Amino acid sequence: MKPISIQGIKFDEKSSFQRGARLAPPLVREAFFCPSANLSAENGQPIDVSLLDDKGDFEINDYFEIERITRNHLKDGLKILTLGGDHSITFPIIKAYHERYSKLDILQIDAHSDLYDEFEGDRYSHACPFARIMESGLALRLVQVGIRTLNPHQKEQAGRFGVEIHQMKNLDLGAIGRFENPLYVSLDLDGIDPAFAPGVSHHEPGGLSTRQVIELIQNLDAEIVGADIVEYNPERDFQGMTAYLAAKLMKELLSKMMTP
Ligand code: MN
Ligand code: MN
Repeated sequence: MKPISIQGIKFDEKSSFQRGARLAPPLVREAFFCPSANLSAENGQPIDVSLLDDKGDFEINDYFEIERITRNHLKDGLKILTLGGDHSITFPIIKAYHERYSKLDILQIDAHSDLYDEFEGDRYSHACPFARIMESGLALRLVQVGIRTLNPHQKEQAGRFGVEIHQMKNLDLGAIGRFENPLYVSLDLDGIDPAFAPGVSHHEPGGLSTRQVIELIQNLDAEIVGADIVEYNPERDFQGMTAYLAAKLMKELLSKMMTP
């Protein structure tokens, strides 16, 4: 198993509808280490916590601080799993990643494409990060799974950037092709149905099941060099169930990232 860095980004200023995601990182950690479950991923391999290089949680005052923090942590040479935070954090993270990985593919799990050119006057809104990533040429391939809110503007943007969208309607997880380049997985918890993930700011029914997301992660045949879990909003959660969901998916992602 390979060591992995963990960083928590306490930031939700780019969240358009509701705040709360800045509170997420310590709660996901708490669920991850809670003795109610063991630390094994489903492949039977326990996560070796001595290999987790936990950088701690960061209060963010300036959006682009996220890029500097990530760049700093990448200098240690380890892959990073980031706990968000709203989804706007993925753009500055990928900016830092691009310096190390000039060829990068991204798998985004989300109810939303987040491809707006601008949203409510903000080009860095959590509705925009993948427009910024693609127009800056920071990813070779962007594959989106779980989308169920595609409007004409975002459809046009997807066409412009060559985004591969697997919408919930007619979803076939087997149709997601193999990733040839180093892969970054960006997991917006609202991609999962609100029945499984109530603790998100934007409830969009008709989403992925927990099992579908686990299978999607387990079946990835690529080197995952980074990941984020974003948009957990504890203020919307019931009994911490979305924190435990995030922790479960964190185990599956870590297991994939740590096992070469
Ligand atoms: Mn998103
Ligand atoms: Mn979303």
